[in-house]
Amino acid sequence: MGRITLDKVTKRFGEVEVIPPLDLTIDDGEFVVFVGPSGCGKSTLLRLIAGLEDVSSGQIRIDGEDATQAPPAKRKLAMVFQSYALYPHMSVRKNIAFPLRMAGIDKAEQDRRIENAAKVLNLTDYLERRPGQLSGGQRQRVAIGRAIVREPAAFLFDEPLSNLDAALRVGMRLEISELHERLKTTMIYVTHDQVEAMTMADKIVVLRAGNIEQVGSPLTLYREPRNLFVAGFIGSPK
Ligand code: ADP
Ligand code: MG
Repeated sequence: MGRITLDKVTKRFGEVEVIPPLDLTIDDGEFVVFVGPSGCGKSTLLRLIAGLEDVSSGQIRIDGEDATQAPPAKRKLAMVFQSYALYPHMSVRKNIAFPLRMAGIDKAEQDRRIENAAKVLNLTDYLERRPGQLSGGQRQRVAIGRAIVREPAAFLFDEPLSNLDAALRVGMRLEISELHERLKTTMIYVTHDQVEAMTMADKIVVLRAGNIEQVGSPLTLYREPRNLFVAGFIGSPK
């Protein structure tokens, strides 16, 4: 579970083609990072996969099924937003439960999933607090918890750490990597930060103006950048 295939996917906003025909396969359990400069189409690509934007043409398959027209809730994917997307007036438990309540999942099953997520994220002692009573790192973990309880086929992260301070960012990177180790669920992680890409990814997708410049492991991109753009972006000489 968690294999995602894009086949000649394009996206136009009016006259502007933001994503030219793009092919990409993400394997089950992979940690894939989309990296590239601001405005290159990272968020758009992630939103197309999530179903938050419609493709202009092409096909998206999730675990072999055509999901191109499927609404977000039917895609078995969970988007992790920045921690400021939490509801300040609700407890941690209620914040985490929110997508399950929306999906009409019964209370006992909600509780089971919340306890599990809290255990994985070390939030068990904080379930009855409000987000305002937590540290920045704990709040980001609650945002991740809200995705975990949905038991998705893949997690989608759009620069989730960009509003955290540098020290916390380093810690959260380690936590997300550890979460991937534990769950072994596909993760797609968008960042403009080369260090994040190089340290977290199994596979890096380097984007420029909606085009894939290169796909490969961090070491491959470092040792064998296909062009100067990739070399410059990854920070190795060629
Ligand atoms: P990134 O996440 O890499 O910074 P985006 O995917 O947000 O880039 O944006 C890619 C390009 O698409 C940018 O030129 C942006 O202005 C444009 N774009 C994104 N969303 C919209 C939209 N809803 N309407 C029009 N243009 C958009
Ligand atoms: Mg973006």
